[in-house]
Amino acid sequence: MNEVYLDYNGSAPLDPRVAEIMLPALTHGVGNASSTHRFGRRQAAAIDEARERVAALVGGGPSGVVFTAGATEANNLALRGAVEAATANRSRILVSAVEHASVRQTARWLNEQGLAKLDVIPVTSGGFVAPDVVEDLTDSDVLLVSVMAANSETGVLNPVSEIAERVHAVGGLFHCDATQIVGRLPFDLDQIGADLVSMSGHKICGPGGVGALIGTRQSLRQLRPIIHGGGHERGLRSGSSNVAGIVGLGAAARIAGEERESESQRVGELRDRLVTVLESRVSGVHNNGDPTRRLPNTANLRFAGADAEAVLSNMDPVAVATGSACSSGSIDPSEVLLAMGSERDAAFEAIRFSLGRFTTDQDIDTAIDRTVTAVEYVRAMAGESD
Ligand code: PMP
Repeated sequence: MNEVYLDYNGSAPLDPRVAEIMLPALTHGVGNASSTHRFGRRQAAAIDEARERVAALVGGGPSGVVFTAGATEANNLALRGAVEAATANRSRILVSAVEHASVRQTARWLNEQGLAKLDVIPVTSGGFVAPDVVEDLTDSDVLLVSVMAANSETGVLNPVSEIAERVHAVGGLFHCDATQIVGRLPFDLDQIGADLVSMSGHKICGPGGVGALIGTRQSLRQLRPIIHGGGHERGLRSGSSNVAGIVGLGAAARIAGEERESESQRVGELRDRLVTVLESRVSGVHNNGDPTRRLPNTANLRFAGADAEAVLSNMDPVAVATGSACSSGSIDPSEVLLAMGSERDAAFEAIRFSLGRFTTDQDIDTAIDRTVTAVEYVRAMAGESD
């Protein structure tokens, strides 16, 4: 049976066209991009081209793109970089309850170290942040607010431009983790009014281990580096550049921009068919997260009475995720679902299907069949052991 990969939100496969563009950079890319000889200059030019492509996808200017080792590092840099550069009268940071661990844990750490006071912004049962709640929590002591554009587990979208407005009204910085939205739905830093934006290569069919923090000129000036050294990337991220990775990120950004609309339409139809057919063939299916405001590629479904880990292990060779792939191995229920008011037991029954560029009609047929069989089997076993 063919393997079926429906875990694009965990990591999307590398597009072969991106690999092809990366290959010369790997095989012939000679020199350190900071060197002034012709080899170094060629490397620097390749990086600058990628900077333009990333800015074209996400907004902002090419000079506002700071390459990092992924969105985890970009999120760390945004939060810790802002806190370490802040003045004493702005000492509070706010992050939503459903942020990626790289935002939540960084915020917690800053709080524990006594470097910032932390408030967690609650979400609705639909999984999004209400702008009025942000307004109630913000005051002139707020340094930075971090709310993601789209949630990785549920795909639910946040009203980020309304939130940015509320944050700017009190003079704070708005950081938006856009890792899951870029390449899937329109996202523009300037239109939204975001000050800092994080993104990652391997979520847009680019290479892993590379990403970017994109910021306005003014907001980048308000950051301290978290990695010190040779002063690369406007002094915000020292370390010789991962040229092939950056070239790959640029290529992936270009393709994502060109194909976003048609791909999202196609993938959205596949996702809708997956959900509709599962709902008709299996009882007790519940959509986690507001289905009217979510990414076109994601569905987070609860199959009542069927433990998700057990279902997942009976779905092979179809790959899906329970909770967040980033924290799998942990036996804790999804913090995202708990924050949405889900009961603990119900959170253990949630499965995330995330589709993407290479998902086919046939993949969906296989996924439906395997899911139905696995859920029925797990429910029957649970019934027997009761
Ligand atoms: N933010 C979000 C919303 C994510 O989904 C992820 C990846 N799971 C990250 C950040 C971390 O990205 P990276 O793997 O590039 O560090």
